[in-house]
Amino acid sequence: MAADPGAAESPPADRDVFPSVLVIGAGTMGAQIAMVVALSGRTVCVTDIAADALDRARAELDSRMRARVDKGRLTQEQLDDAFARLTTTTDLAAAASDVDLVIEAVVERLEAKRALFAELDSLCPTATVFASNSSSFMPSQMADARPDRFINLHFFNPALVMRCVEVIRAPSTAQQTVDAAVAFVRDIGKEPVLLDKEIPGFIANRILNAVRDEAVSLMENGVASVSQIDLACRTALGYPMGPFELMDLTGIDIGYLIKKARFEATGDPADAPARSMSELVAAGHLGRKTGRGWYMYENGEKVGEA
Ligand code: NAD
Repeated sequence: MAADPGAAESPPADRDVFPSVLVIGAGTMGAQIAMVVALSGRTVCVTDIAADALDRARAELDSRMRARVDKGRLTQEQLDDAFARLTTTTDLAAAASDVDLVIEAVVERLEAKRALFAELDSLCPTATVFASNSSSFMPSQMADARPDRFINLHFFNPALVMRCVEVIRAPSTAQQTVDAAVAFVRDIGKEPVLLDKEIPGFIANRILNAVRDEAVSLMENGVASVSQIDLACRTALGYPMGPFELMDLTGIDIGYLIKKARFEATGDPADAPARSMSELVAAGHLGRKTGRGWYMYENGEKVGEA
């Protein structure tokens, strides 16, 4: 049979986009992002400065993925294949020498990320695209080393489950990089959400934060109690949990620190942490993890408003 004359010109299958990936940071996000990539058929290496973080990541992925096999959501063969494609190492130079895409998922400190990308620039092939999973920093704050080949790919926690990946371009990011990133996100089974313009915090977390700020303001102004505001969000807006319940789950200190950092950067009083949140953090009432936040908890169960 004659060859299809158009075949050679057809765009490469998405599977061919970034066939070899390096994930840096084996914490909460990096480990699961690496498994998502391995499950898509790509080879993936995870590096961390701490060898024990790599051991923990493997052990956690092992038990999490085993549960999926037990529930019939994945075959043992698929899991074995994915683990066969996933390697770990503390040797960044060796891991970086031949990769198509780097996904950085290290600590949320701008200087740490900038230093890492500067180092990677000398270790990776010139064609390698750099991506950051930062929750707040804009790509232009990290793109010096590879202005046209830098992008943020913001996965959500837990990365194995959450479908959304926000794709944020810097003004300098090449359209080709954006297109490849979008194709990659789709092919690993996620839903790319593309921003036309960078902004700190991106879309989902900004909306989440706006809802949280309004909920706290309503409560501080005596309009309704914590539980009634959560009830309205669940029963009127269809939220799976109310903003106060969610803060207790994620840790009140997390939202507090994000607001504090933003206030320090902008000086805008609207960005300052709310009085009631500051008081809870100062008292060590950080939510479920301390047994008390906006609500009280006993043996992990909510027992009433604090
Ligand atoms: P984490 O603290 O769980 O893990 C970070 C890992 O990076 C640690 O294992 C640490 O040893 C390692 N590390 C630190 N510096 C390193 C370096 N220079 N080189 C290699 N490894 C290094 O953090 P996380 O919660 O996984 O967050 C990672 C990134 O993902 C942050 O930028 C964060 O903003 C973002 N993020 C987090 C969440 C979340 O809910 N946790 C959600 C979306 C995005």
